[in-house]
Amino acid sequence: MSVLDLARPEIRALQPYSSARMEASGGQVLLNANESAWAPPGDHALACNRYPDPQPAPLIDALARLYGVRASQVLVGRGSDEAIDLLVRTFCRAGQDAIAIQPPTFGMYAVSAHIQGAGVITVPLAADFSLDVDAVLAALTPAVKLVFVCTPNNPTGQLVRLQDVTRLAQALVGRALLVVDEAYIEFSDAPSAAPLIDQFDHLAVLRTLSKAWALAGARIGTLLANEQVIALLRRVMAPYPLPRPCVALALEALTESGQDAARAHIAVVREQRARMARAVAEVPGVREVLPSQANFLAVRFDDASAVYQRLLAAGIVVRDIQRYPQLGDALRITVGLPEENDRVLDVLQNRLQDERALAAGQRP
Ligand code: PMP
Repeated sequence: MSVLDLARPEIRALQPYSSARMEASGGQVLLNANESAWAPPGDHALACNRYPDPQPAPLIDALARLYGVRASQVLVGRGSDEAIDLLVRTFCRAGQDAIAIQPPTFGMYAVSAHIQGAGVITVPLAADFSLDVDAVLAALTPAVKLVFVCTPNNPTGQLVRLQDVTRLAQALVGRALLVVDEAYIEFSDAPSAAPLIDQFDHLAVLRTLSKAWALAGARIGTLLANEQVIALLRRVMAPYPLPRPCVALALEALTESGQDAARAHIAVVREQRARMARAVAEVPGVREVLPSQANFLAVRFDDASAVYQRLLAAGIVVRDIQRYPQLGDALRITVGLPEENDRVLDVLQNRLQDERALAAGQRP
């Protein structure tokens, strides 16, 4: 059985749109795409009067080198959000098929499924937020076409062990596509699942330039998978997903000096993550700082809402994650610049002083 048998039959049968840029490239007089002959104003116009290459080879090659795969195994889109959406739209029939997720986890898997009219099977993470492979497998039904695994997981920060990913992949042969979301893996010590795509044609790995590569605003996300899966997803993808200025920014980030800068920033984040984890754990009113391999910390408080408001009043916005299962007392705090982290600690620690003052009957 091919992985393509898991996809929606109507996508497999679809006659995909053929864009002007796909049909012909090169030439000096371009009169095939109804574009303007004039470049737009601005110093950074980057030939934006022309449609961009749907999958620019220099970017594909740079990402293939970065992620250690072949260029034919790379699909670039508008953030990994787009890859998630493409997977759901390609593999799940509305009203019939489903995805499987392990809450608490990234919200877009379920949102994309709901938009598509697909079901969502939830298998909660264990109490220590580790992945329970047996529970995932036990919950699978024939309707499940995609199993999402997030490592490090957002919003908890924990890793899924590569041996568990491998076990899942082995068990899912002929049943479902396994999607491993590695949006935060650069901040961890863990190896990527990317090399496993040579072994499993039903495995897709999501990577992004939005986090460690400082390009959230450029929306560059990558899906790594085998050619046949990528060819299928491209049938569903918009004809010109990558704006030229965004591609230029990504290429700059992936130069040698760009990579040096990203690695230096990753080192700072890891250092600051350890420092913040230690310092926040000491703050009265903090119940627990979850161990994190990502660029954020999930922190349990006695009164998370009050801490959220207090930080907000000081101009600091963190993520309230109390609505997530098993995290009813938690906030997620991104690791920022050292001076931004100082401000967070100041606010958290001032609260202690205020409370002491109140307890002593003084005005804070
Ligand atoms: N996956 C995870 C786990 C995320 O946390 C995020 C963003 N918050 C994304 C994917 C989407 O990232 P992007 O679309 O910017 O690549």
